[in-house]
Amino acid sequence: MDVDAVVNLVERIGLETVLTEMAGYVEEDYQRWGAFEKSPRLASHSADGVIELMPTSDGEAFAFKYVNGHPTNVALGLQTVVGFGVLASVRTGYPELIAEMTITTALRTAATSAMAARHLARDDAATMAIIGLGAQSEFQAHAFRAVLGVRRLRVYDVDPAATRKFITNMQGRGFEIFVAASASEAVMGADIITTVTADKAQNHILSDNMVGAGVHLNAVGGDCPGKTELQADILRRGEVFVEFAPQTRIEGEIQQLEPDFPVTELWRVVSGQAPGRRGADQITIFDSVGFAIEDFSALRYLRDRMLEAGDGARLNLLASPEDPRDLFGLLTARERLAAPVAV
Ligand code: NAD
Repeated sequence: MDVDAVVNLVERIGLETVLTEMAGYVEEDYQRWGAFEKSPRLASHSADGVIELMPTSDGEAFAFKYVNGHPTNVALGLQTVVGFGVLASVRTGYPELIAEMTITTALRTAATSAMAARHLARDDAATMAIIGLGAQSEFQAHAFRAVLGVRRLRVYDVDPAATRKFITNMQGRGFEIFVAASASEAVMGADIITTVTADKAQNHILSDNMVGAGVHLNAVGGDCPGKTELQADILRRGEVFVEFAPQTRIEGEIQQLEPDFPVTELWRVVSGQAPGRRGADQITIFDSVGFAIEDFSALRYLRDRMLEAGDGARLNLLASPEDPRDLFGLLTARERLAAPVAV
């Protein structure tokens, strides 16, 4: 499934339905967490960014995503994050789906954030602040409306061009949007705060005094060693929920804290083994970095919808000679056709 195939799928099904359904797939896989092979992703760091491979398997299907994170790309006219993914049969090892995963990462990240917030935010949450109005931002807004019914947005970006892009894209889509002049103005009165900025630095997009009682933080942008968004004191005031602790301790906001700082893995909340929000005044923090199982869920979702409607195309990617041992015959087939050998 290339970019056009994914765009067609979203057009056919509707963005918010896709986000809701994808959140359902992620939740289903979180509920069977024990079935998956899990490891922190393999990351190749450089001065400008990171290139990562994210594998997992549930014993029936194997998936991996190739993805990067290069905050300096925007200045080159390129995106910060691009990716593609593969879903394969464990029994045969044959890849069954190769898919674009740039749009799909934005969808699955937003779907996972909203799914987490459904367990962690207050039930009466109605207003979300979004700090960082880049590629991920509109997806986050739509997922929170689709899954939690949040329609009121307070938004801020340091770059006015990003703000203009966001407002243009969101016009006529039924949101009530307030454009703030600073991050501290954006978070005023917000029930949920999404931080989704890109900068390879230890930033304080939110400082402790900006976060009031009862707020849910959806911290998406800090996802790499040396790249964080929250002042550490906020993490100590609230309860921190993570995807896969061994990976988040390397990449997430909690990289700023001692290695045994207590956190709760979100799958335990989703499967009823740990409480989510404990009270209206509690600060909850989803320290999101993106985990392989979410990409597995997203690929599973694309495959299921693709099989229903025939989105995508068949690629001649896997050599398949009639006699499986006669791979060489594929190289010589044209020769043989041109000059048949007499026997
Ligand atoms: P992007 O480069 O398209 O957008 C980032 C935006 O943040 C830009 O508009 C930039 O102007 C803004 N920004 C930077 N510093 C800021 C500041 N101090 N205050 C306010 N705004 C600021 O990037 P993107 O694709 O939207 O990704 C955003 C971040 O999310 C990246 O760091 C990326 O690595 C991360 N990400 C995380 C996940 C996950 O699963 N957790 C998934 C995808 C992307």
